[in-house]
Amino acid sequence: MGAGSDPVDPGAEARYASPVNEARPVRSLRPLQAMLPDDLALAAGIDVSDARRIISLAHRTGAFPARSPATIRRRALDAVRALFAIPTLEIAERRESQEDPFVKYAFRLDDGAVVETVRIPLERPGRYSVCVSSQVGCALACAFCATGKMGLARNLEAWEIVEQVRAVRAGIEAPGRVHGVLFQGMGEPMSNLDRVIQAIRVLGEPCAQAIDMRNITVCTAGLPAGIRRLYQEVPSVRLGVSLGSVIPGRRRALMPIDGAHPLEDVLAAAGEHARATRHSPMFAYTLLAGVNDGDEDAAALAELILGFRAKYEATLRLSLIPYNAIGPGDVFARSERLEAFRAVLRVRGVGTIVRYSGGSDVGAACGQLSRPGSGGKASALASRGAPTTSL
Ligand code: SF4
Repeated sequence: MGAGSDPVDPGAEARYASPVNEARPVRSLRPLQAMLPDDLALAAGIDVSDARRIISLAHRTGAFPARSPATIRRRALDAVRALFAIPTLEIAERRESQEDPFVKYAFRLDDGAVVETVRIPLERPGRYSVCVSSQVGCALACAFCATGKMGLARNLEAWEIVEQVRAVRAGIEAPGRVHGVLFQGMGEPMSNLDRVIQAIRVLGEPCAQAIDMRNITVCTAGLPAGIRRLYQEVPSVRLGVSLGSVIPGRRRALMPIDGAHPLEDVLAAAGEHARATRHSPMFAYTLLAGVNDGDEDAAALAELILGFRAKYEATLRLSLIPYNAIGPGDVFARSERLEAFRAVLRVRGVGTIVRYSGGSDVGAACGQLSRPGSGGKASALASRGAPTTSL
């Protein structure tokens, strides 16, 4: 998959990637939502200008028109219609939070699997980020994540990722709009990177979703080769890294991926990303009572942050996330030491953002995404206006 190298275990990322898509039924018509204009023009043998107008129509309406509009040549539309379909996702559930303006969607896919997506209000009224899922379940099994308890069922196709954004956008009243996209819903995006990158390109394409790629953030539990490939192929996109803990044994207990990719290697890739893109990475740290919220954890975190800044001459944003319960049998609890933890960082010169993680009453808060009706979920969601990570 990725172009980046991995000195620790070259096969680890492949093991965490899922081959399950290959076993799914093959569609006779390809999904139009995953197409870029040049590729569509080539595939259908039509002008790029017609391809742009057809893609624009598909993204605006979610359907082919009954008759060819005056702006599109009929021959071009017929050629596309012969090869492509515009599939949609069924909205299995749409829950509006009573606590705040978050909305959680559960989408049923054509094989019956369900993924979750969250509409996150930003500070500026009428602007939203959409937190999308990239897999059905997740193989990485982070201890504090509801999705991680599901295991991995399959990767999402590029169109299924794009369609989450298109469907959420369709429910926003004008003049509201989708400002950004966060890959921090269900799944580890770096384990499905071919499709995630294709979806990012479509989301950023002016005639498709036209989202500024600088407002797209991909969050990872720590797959170095994926981080490298991200800056090589879509350098405008921002990076989020979930830390869990910066004390090696504690991190490995919370995030098994640390066994294949120690934090040091993840930070090296994140440093390269920062240098190559000049974007500040977001590091996310979920505070778990009695697990990673002690003064020694905060001191170790401060040391890591200061070391990263010095080594890579990069600024970064550190986001502290209050833990949200994921349901019955939960072995973790929200830390009451948030301010004490922040104080230890502050005296060492490390500023923090405390992530507002809304929608907990509909299972839309950080770490709660799993399945509709669970009252819980799996990945992190956003602070108001700021990107967030999955953990
Ligand atoms: S936190 Fe993210 S990477 Fe970890 S198990 Fe959950 S979805 Fe997977």
